[in-house]
Amino acid sequence: MSVTASHAPLLDTYARADVTFVSGEGSTLTDGEGRDYLDLLAGIAVVGLGHKHPAPLAAAQAQLERIWHVSNLYWTEPMARLADLLSERFGGAHAFFCNSGSEANEAALKYARKATGRTGIVALENSFHGRTMGALAATGQPSKRAPFAPLVPDVRFAKLNDTGSLADVVDEGTACILLEPVQGEGGVHPAAPHFLAKARELADAHGALLVFDEVQCGLGRTGSFFAWQARGVKPDAVTLAKALANGLPVGALLVSDAAPHGFAPGDHGSTFGGNPVACAAACAVVETLTDELLADVVRKGALLRARLERLPSVVEVRGAGLLLGVETDSVAAPLAAQALERGVVVGTAGERVLRVTPPLTITDDELEQALAILEEVLA
Ligand code: PLP
Repeated sequence: MSVTASHAPLLDTYARADVTFVSGEGSTLTDGEGRDYLDLLAGIAVVGLGHKHPAPLAAAQAQLERIWHVSNLYWTEPMARLADLLSERFGGAHAFFCNSGSEANEAALKYARKATGRTGIVALENSFHGRTMGALAATGQPSKRAPFAPLVPDVRFAKLNDTGSLADVVDEGTACILLEPVQGEGGVHPAAPHFLAKARELADAHGALLVFDEVQCGLGRTGSFFAWQARGVKPDAVTLAKALANGLPVGALLVSDAAPHGFAPGDHGSTFGGNPVACAAACAVVETLTDELLADVVRKGALLRARLERLPSVVEVRGAGLLLGVETDSVAAPLAAQALERGVVVGTAGERVLRVTPPLTITDDELEQALAILEEVLA
């Protein structure tokens, strides 16, 4: 096997580092030359339980031996079980399964339009909801949108944590308010509880659905199973993906049983949605996210934050749990490259922000080792 795949004929969509990872275990990644790295990115908040976690691994392996795929015209046990587990965590919801975060948000936008008979979408500046045309239309980052206009119409943007600006754009034509309880890609900016409460109030007052995109901040990442649980505002629907199957592709739209009905057969679908192998792994993930594990995410997040905040070139540390954005006084990409050189994988989220999203299972020793290296890089 070649050690580096850096000349493979891939379209130019990512600025990839010149490293080819060949295996992973827990919070350690190994490259083709046998060098180990501490993984503080976890595939951008995907490998929440760490690489090769025994629970989803065993569940996926067992399912691979049984059945890989049937059409969504029939039932499979893992899909039904995952819907049950997620409904229980949400407090009564029905699921639509797909393959990614973008697809989960597409489903949410279609659901909201169908359920309300309206077309308006309210989203936030600086948000990120995905790269497909509908999700991109609701993504409040002009540089990502501009090359692909015209996008889905009737989207209006408000400013995060500015209740007046939100009130200005929600009206009787609004099908849904879509927002991330903690913005990830846009630089790691948490929504204030009073802002979420205002979004709930406005959605109720105008008959719109409140949809939380928890693709990045959900599934234990911020220290509660759903990010909204720690912020006291329950949405009508939530989208999930990334960490749901610890690295196998799966996305989900959960709609509260109390929300207006939207979809009927034929309205929406996905050939691979609810894939039994991915769903079997996802069931194991959901069952592994215990209260004890979630409390440990909060503890480790606080520890990491306190240590990073002290570093001379750090301007601010934002986020919740183990979704942290470290704003620095210089451009972040070269800092991430230096960390990689020294054996720590870390991401970026915006020009001056390092994104730190380790596996939720990272040990204190591993955090210490990674911090020692980040302390050199951010000295
Ligand atoms: N929503 C949020 C909050 C995300 O962070 C992402 C991806 O980073 C997406 C949606 C899109 O997910 P995907 O890349 O799986 O389509």
